[in-house]
Amino acid sequence: MISDEFQKPEILISRCLGFASCRWNSDIINNEWVERLKPFVNFYHVCPEVDCGLGVPRAPLRLIRKDNLILLFQPASGRFFNQEFENYVNYFFNDNFSFDGGIFCARSPSCGLMGVKLYNHEKNIVVAKTEGLFISLLKKKGAQFPLIDHGRINDENLRDKFFTAIFLFARLKYLEKNLDAERIIAFHSANKLLFMARNQTELRKAGKLLANLKTASLPAIFAEYRRLVLKIIFSQPRKTANINVLEHIAGYFKNELSAAEKRYFQMLLDGYRKGNVSLQSLKILLASWVERYQSGYLQNQTYFQPYPRQLIEESVSL
Ligand code: SF4
Repeated sequence: MISDEFQKPEILISRCLGFASCRWNSDIINNEWVERLKPFVNFYHVCPEVDCGLGVPRAPLRLIRKDNLILLFQPASGRFFNQEFENYVNYFFNDNFSFDGGIFCARSPSCGLMGVKLYNHEKNIVVAKTEGLFISLLKKKGAQFPLIDHGRINDENLRDKFFTAIFLFARLKYLEKNLDAERIIAFHSANKLLFMARNQTELRKAGKLLANLKTASLPAIFAEYRRLVLKIIFSQPRKTANINVLEHIAGYFKNELSAAEKRYFQMLLDGYRKGNVSLQSLKILLASWVERYQSGYLQNQTYFQPYPRQLIEESVSL
């Protein structure tokens, strides 16, 4: 059986994404994927604007450029909120972020990850697109966990990448708290094909590093191993790398499969190459062979199921 054991990721989230009607106009935003994630993660919701003392409803804020500074400004009152936001982030977030991911409200001047309008103060025109003030302060403080917004989470490939990353982050955190050589080796072995589909160079480095696990200091090796895994997690999944992994898996069954089954696999693979067949369809086919032939090594591979099956949509295509 492909494993159903997952650590619950700790996710920082904008409060207006289904937790409270705290938008400037008292709105709340409901998102299907936030709802579907609820049983599988621990959410910590924040609303920087309300937490910094603004009421609901309130006059809207905007980012402005003034004297080469980016300021959070409320045109109706003429007030700036940078200092309040800095105090808030410094008070509530220490440098040791324990979050495994963040989901934020798109395009908000506070929480937006990208594409937030930046105005010229004097001329009242948009001069650039940037990130929200809360996000830039989190990053300045050293936050380095996977981020997505409520618009991009609806894109199946971006969502797949984000979900994969947050469950890996949570697992790494568990390993760090429960340092044990065998557990680290088991983690690496179970994620080998997933890592192979992301970044073969870093995968090789990680494998070499773990070869010294018995002789070197465990915390030091794990710190370096974690750094390499993070590089892998943040690498862009590539179609050619996925094709290599799929062919590699199919190779395990070359003596068992009929000629017709092999032809069918090649036809799907060709379709995937051309963009007509989803990656998930190929994974499902291969997973059925893994189960049929009870291949122990492959049964443990997270490549087939990097996060709980209830969150997997069949149409993921890369
Ligand atoms: S976008 Fe951020 S600051 Fe604005 S209402 Fe949502 S949580 Fe609050």
